[in-house]
Amino acid sequence: MQDATSAYTIEQRDADLVGTTASILYRLAFHKAARHLIHVTVRVERCSGIVALVMPSWTPGSYKIRDYAGWQGNVRAFAVGASGRTALPHRWTDKARLEVDMQGADVLEVDYVVYCNERTVRTNHVNRFHAFVMPTATCMYVEGRMHEIHHVELQHDQATWPNVSTALSPVRAARAGSVLLGALNYDILADSPIEIGSQSVVRFDVNGVPHEVAIAGNHALDTQWLANQLAVVVGTESAVFGGLPYDRYVFIVQAYPGIYGGLEHARSSVNAVDPSTLLDPAKCNELLALLCHEYFHLWNVKRIRPIELGPFDYTREAYSPMLWLAEGLTSYYDDLFAYRCGFHTQEAFIKLLAREHIAKLARVPGRFQMSVRDSSYLAWLKLYMQSPDGNNRFPSYYLKGGVIFLLLDLYIIDHTDGKRSLDDALRALWSHYQSNPGVGLTESDCIALIERGTGVQCKALIDAWLSGTDELPYDEMLGLAGLAVQSQTSPTTAKTFGEQRSFASVPPTAWCGWTVREEQGKLVVKGVEDGSPADAANIGIDDEIIAVDGRRVTAVNILDTYLAEFVGRTVAITAHCDGRLYTTTIEPQAQTTLAIVDVAKPTARQNNVRKAWLRR
Ligand SMILES: [Zn+2]
Repeated sequence: MQDATSAYTIEQRDADLVGTTASILYRLAFHKAARHLIHVTVRVERCSGIVALVMPSWTPGSYKIRDYAGWQGNVRAFAVGASGRTALPHRWTDKARLEVDMQGADVLEVDYVVYCNERTVRTNHVNRFHAFVMPTATCMYVEGRMHEIHHVELQHDQATWPNVSTALSPVRAARAGSVLLGALNYDILADSPIEIGSQSVVRFDVNGVPHEVAIAGNHALDTQWLANQLAVVVGTESAVFGGLPYDRYVFIVQAYPGIYGGLEHARSSVNAVDPSTLLDPAKCNELLALLCHEYFHLWNVKRIRPIELGPFDYTREAYSPMLWLAEGLTSYYDDLFAYRCGFHTQEAFIKLLAREHIAKLARVPGRFQMSVRDSSYLAWLKLYMQSPDGNNRFPSYYLKGGVIFLLLDLYIIDHTDGKRSLDDALRALWSHYQSNPGVGLTESDCIALIERGTGVQCKALIDAWLSGTDELPYDEMLGLAGLAVQSQTSPTTAKTFGEQRSFASVPPTAWCGWTVREEQGKLVVKGVEDGSPADAANIGIDDEIIAVDGRRVTAVNILDTYLAEFVGRTVAITAHCDGRLYTTTIEPQAQTTLAIVDVAKPTARQNNVRKAWLRR
C-alpha cells in the first residue's frame, strides 16, 4: 500500500543521498551466491507496537502477479538492544505480509533468505559469477514508512565482483565488503535493479551527464561501439524533450542465451538479449531498437504515465486501460528513433513498419474481437498470461497501439501542413508532467494534451481507434503521405531436403494459418488462426501432424515443401490427437504479406507530409 501521507516521486539525484542516514536498511549478503541465495536482513529503527513488512507481488512495468514471497524463506524477527538480538513473535496475515509485535523494543531486524534463480529482467538471478537483484523481489517494505529514505548495504567480495551497476545512489565510499547505496523512498528503491559482478562497463557523457553501459554475461559485443550508438540514442531522444531529466543513467544489458526482453526504470533500464544474435549486424539493430524502447520509457511510463501507474499498490494488480499509451506510443517511437538515429535508411524504416507493425497486426484475428483499451485493462490475464488461443481473442496493445500512433502522427502532420507532429504531443505531455509530477494522466487528460500540443482536434478519431474493433484505416491515413498497404506474395524460401530450389521452379509458399513446431521429433500445432485453412480443417492446438497426401512429414521444412505443391487445392492431412489418428483435408493458400508501397502519382501535399514525417 502507498503511504497516504507521502507525495509520489521517482526523481532522485545522487547528491541527494550522499552522507544520509536511514531508519530502514537492507543488508544483502552474497556468501551463498553459488546456491542462488541472498541472505537479507531488514533493519528498521524507530519502531513501536505492531510493525508490518510486505513482500511485493509484482514489479511495475511487468503486469503479472509473481508473488515474490514464494521464493522467500527462513523468516525470523528480532529486537535489537544493548545486549544483542532477542527473538520477537510474528505472524503472517496474508501470503506476503508479516506482522511483528515489537514488545516495547524500538529496533527491529527481520532476517530471511531469497532463492534467486530466474533469469528475466524482473526477477532475481544470482550465482557464483554475478548477482542481478530486483528490489521488488528482495526487499520487503515497511507499511506506513515507504516515503522514508531507504539504504541498501551490499556485502560481497569486491575483488571477485568489482562492479556495481545501479541507479541507486552511493551514500558513502565503498568499504571492504560493504557498498552502501540509497533511495529517497521505497518506490525509487523498487525501481532500481542492481547488477553486481565483473560485468563489462563503459561510460560516456551526453551534455555533461554521465551514462553507464553495463553488459553482464559471456558476450563478444564491441562495448565501445555500443556506447557510441547509445550516445546517439540519448542525444536524439532527449532533443525531442529539450534535455535530460536525470543526473545519471545506467543501461544494464543481460547477454545470455535464449533470452529477450526489457524493463524500464526512471534512471536505468534492463535489456536482455541472446549474445549469439549480436554476431549478426541485422540483429544488432534489434538490440538498438530494444535499447531505444526502454530508454524512451524514462519519459513515457516512468514520468508521463497513466494515473494507475504510480503510486502503486505492490500487493495487487494496477489495472490501466491506457497501456496503449505506455507501450503503443513507445513501440512506434522505438523504431522511429532508431531511424532518426541513422540506424535505418528511409526505405528500411518503411519496410520495418510494414513487417513488424502492420503485417504482424494483420495476423491477429483478435483485433476484431477486443478493443485495444480492453486489452490494456486486462493485460494481467491476457498479454501476460496469454492462452495458446490468445491471438484470436485480443490484440496486443504494443502492436495495435503502435500502429494507432503511426496513423495519428501522419494525421497530425497532414492537418498542420507539416508544422506539427506527434513530437509536439510528447512535449505537451512532458510539460504537463513537469508541472504535475505527483499525479499520472487520465485518458481524457492525455487526449486533451495531444490536442493541445498539436492543435489538431483528434479526440473522436483516437476514441474510435481505441474502443473499436474495425480494421484501422490504413489507406486513408498512409495515403496522406502518399503510401498504401499492399498484399504481396512472399518470395518462397521452401527447401527440399536441405537444398534450395530455384525460385522459378517452386510454387508459392503455402499458408495454412497454423503455427507448427518440431518437438521431440514430432510436428506439433501450437496455434491456429480463426478463419484460416487450418481452422476450416478443424485442426486443434497440440495435435500432431503426421502426413500430407499420405507422405510422412518429420520436419517443418518438409511439411512446408509438400504443402506448397497444393496451394489452392485440397490435400489430405493425417494427424494425431489424444492417442488416436484422424484424417482431414486442408486447402493451403499462397503465403502473402503486407507491404507499404508508394501510391502511383503522389501529390505535392502527400510528398510534403512524407518529408515532414521522415525529417531527421
Ligand atoms: Zn515497453
